[in-house]
Amino acid sequence: MRERYIGTYGGYQTGPLLFVLGGIHGNEPAGVFGLEKVFQKLEAQAPHFRGKLVGICGNCRALAKKQRFIDRDLNRLWSEREIQRILHSSSKEALNSEEKELLEILSVIEKEKEGDFTARVMMDLHTTSAPGGFFSIVTPKPRNRELGTALYAPVIFNLNNSLDSTTNIFMDNHGWQGVAFESGQHDDIESMVLHEAAVWVMLEKVGCIHRDDIDNFQQYHDLLAEAAKYLPRFVNVVYRHEITPEDQFSMVPGYVNFTPVKAGELLGRDRKGMVKAPKTGRILMPLYQPQGEEGFFIAEELEKPLI
Ligand SMILES: [Zn+2]
Repeated sequence: MRERYIGTYGGYQTGPLLFVLGGIHGNEPAGVFGLEKVFQKLEAQAPHFRGKLVGICGNCRALAKKQRFIDRDLNRLWSEREIQRILHSSSKEALNSEEKELLEILSVIEKEKEGDFTARVMMDLHTTSAPGGFFSIVTPKPRNRELGTALYAPVIFNLNNSLDSTTNIFMDNHGWQGVAFESGQHDDIESMVLHEAAVWVMLEKVGCIHRDDIDNFQQYHDLLAEAAKYLPRFVNVVYRHEITPEDQFSMVPGYVNFTPVKAGELLGRDRKGMVKAPKTGRILMPLYQPQGEEGFFIAEELEKPLI
């Protein structure tokens, strides 16, 4: 099994804390690999560094098994209700695999957040089962939207109303700024490259590093800008297709993130029959993996950000 810590860097000069999670979903190792690259280059180049970077593995047990989760989706345990339930459970032994992961991550967060930081920023790195999953998810706060737009990827609004127990909610509830960042398809090497680029650009954005101190820094901006070239800047989620394993949902093959769909279009099948798009918009996160709680989302492009 992987160590919880992928790395830490800095911590000697006043500045922000950037806390990055990779592999909250065990079938999404790209964030872990991207973080490893960042730490290797920081060690090799030893730039002037303000504040501290902490990179940790999310679901260590599921990463070892290369599966999304073992007992429960770790990215659905971050509401205060769930956290309090797990923190106060009478028997820690009786906790399931992801509940144990959550407790371990929370203790790392508690330890690392201490210190005289000018800001506390969290990044949660993910990938999607369909191609083209390049976007940021933020809660409706201007500062979080700024962090999202800094990564060039489309910023998704209102996903959190659907996903009210993800790391985004934890960030809000606990006074962190932050963003969840999806860099592409699970096993695409490009996803790892984009995660690395996103962490570098975020280090610059929050003020940990200066671009002149890193070799060929512009490449990271260019990689992200290139990936975003044909995508909308801002989208608003207008529909979430919730599923359970009993639904036996299967998505029609061939959809990628941001594919335009029309109301009434056949998107999938379940045990009751055909599943059609209830609205016109763009498809997000069509499900092409066995585990998941949503079959797909539909989003509308926005002229300007909601916040
Ligand atoms: Zn994920």
